[in-house]
Amino acid sequence: MKRVVFGDDSDRLSHHMNPLVYLASGTTYAIGVTTVKEATGDMKVLVINCGSSSLKYQLFDMETESPLAKGLVERIGIDGSRIKHTKTGQDSVTTETPIPDHKVAVKLVLEALLNENHGILSSLDELSAVGHRVVHAGEKFACSVRLDDVVMAALKECIPLAPLHNPANITGIEAITAALPQVPQVGVFDTAFHQTMPKHAYMYGVPYRYYEEHKVRRYGFHGTSHFFVAHRCAEILGRPIENLKIITCHLGNGSSIAAVKNGVCVDTSMGFTPLAGVLMGTRCGDIDPSIVRFMADKEGSVEKADTVLNKESGVHGVSGISSDLRDIEDGMAKGDERADLAFSMLSYGITKYIGAYAAAMGGVDALVFTAGIGENCTMIRETATRDLAFLGISVDPDKNDFRGEERVISPDGSPVSVMVIPTNEELVIARDTKSLVSA
Ligand code: ADP
Repeated sequence: MKRVVFGDDSDRLSHHMNPLVYLASGTTYAIGVTTVKEATGDMKVLVINCGSSSLKYQLFDMETESPLAKGLVERIGIDGSRIKHTKTGQDSVTTETPIPDHKVAVKLVLEALLNENHGILSSLDELSAVGHRVVHAGEKFACSVRLDDVVMAALKECIPLAPLHNPANITGIEAITAALPQVPQVGVFDTAFHQTMPKHAYMYGVPYRYYEEHKVRRYGFHGTSHFFVAHRCAEILGRPIENLKIITCHLGNGSSIAAVKNGVCVDTSMGFTPLAGVLMGTRCGDIDPSIVRFMADKEGSVEKADTVLNKESGVHGVSGISSDLRDIEDGMAKGDERADLAFSMLSYGITKYIGAYAAAMGGVDALVFTAGIGENCTMIRETATRDLAFLGISVDPDKNDFRGEERVISPDGSPVSVMVIPTNEELVIARDTKSLVSA
């Protein structure tokens, strides 16, 4: 695992824990840890992913790294709120009940985990730690960290960088703190894995003061997923990740592509926000920035233009059908030209990024597809790689004809291994949480 060298960047808080800090992973150990409830043995870790009106959770047995239960609380603070809980191996149980805020949501999650029929815990004392997905850590954290007051203050400072996401993540952490004050908590950041990008890759061509004063730069997102699939890819190849050049394509509702060279991220397609990069479900991806001003004039405000670019653009905006690629495939089958156009734009964008990142790394050893589209859409994997034989990238149509499993889809003996690897961000969060509380 890579050790992160922080130089003398005084704004980073990692040294606040310990000078020896390692990148997020299941096998690393970090950081000045004091109280540890359970270092080994029957460790159960709860993973929480809070959105503004939702809370996803998963409980892991870290002995076996298997999920014991998972669930989703939806429509928090909105009419029709409900919790859907699934104990592994059983049918889901959905309960509709008023859920005015995240505190109530957390209370319901803990009750579900303790429920005598579909629960999994006999006491909350069995919970060893809670790991949280946090979207934005700015430049403050290049690895997962134990949450404390100092870290929370740093995450609050990052709110201007992620005004939609970080407040929800922080609310979830505070709700867990209120319910389980004695249980250690860990933050795992979407941005952390990308903190290794060289400066020439993360800076924008705007006056330098925007970086110095406002931290305007490329951050990148989905880092936990890119980390997981890049490491899994190296495992499948049976080669050290330190010797590999891997391009990881996380293609879901939000999509991003990353160049992972020798185990660290050297470039990624999302930027200052998750709006940049390839065409997404409702986000525009890369556009000429002057369009924003033009659109603001047409729409009447910058806010409205921002909403159009985030929520009404992408596959949905181009096709006029849906943000869901399954609907686009149906549209294409019926001969819908704009469905065809949206699909081609997405596919072409992926092809261009793969070419760019192969150039950025001076070659490519492996290409990975993951997330909803990457794992399930046979056609995008085929079309996005169709013109890449010159890089040694090709996909065997027979091997590619499946959905949602881990497989190598390039022909035997291919110079570049093309793979589908289902992502597992929750497992990375659980592993990091375990590592940090048991170090
Ligand atoms: P999120 O970014 O919200 O986590 P996911 O990674 O779950 O999203 O991806 C969801 C998207 O995956 C859907 O909107 C859809 O476009 C795509 N998808 C899921 N299943 C298929 C499928 N069988 N064929 C094509 N696309 C699919």
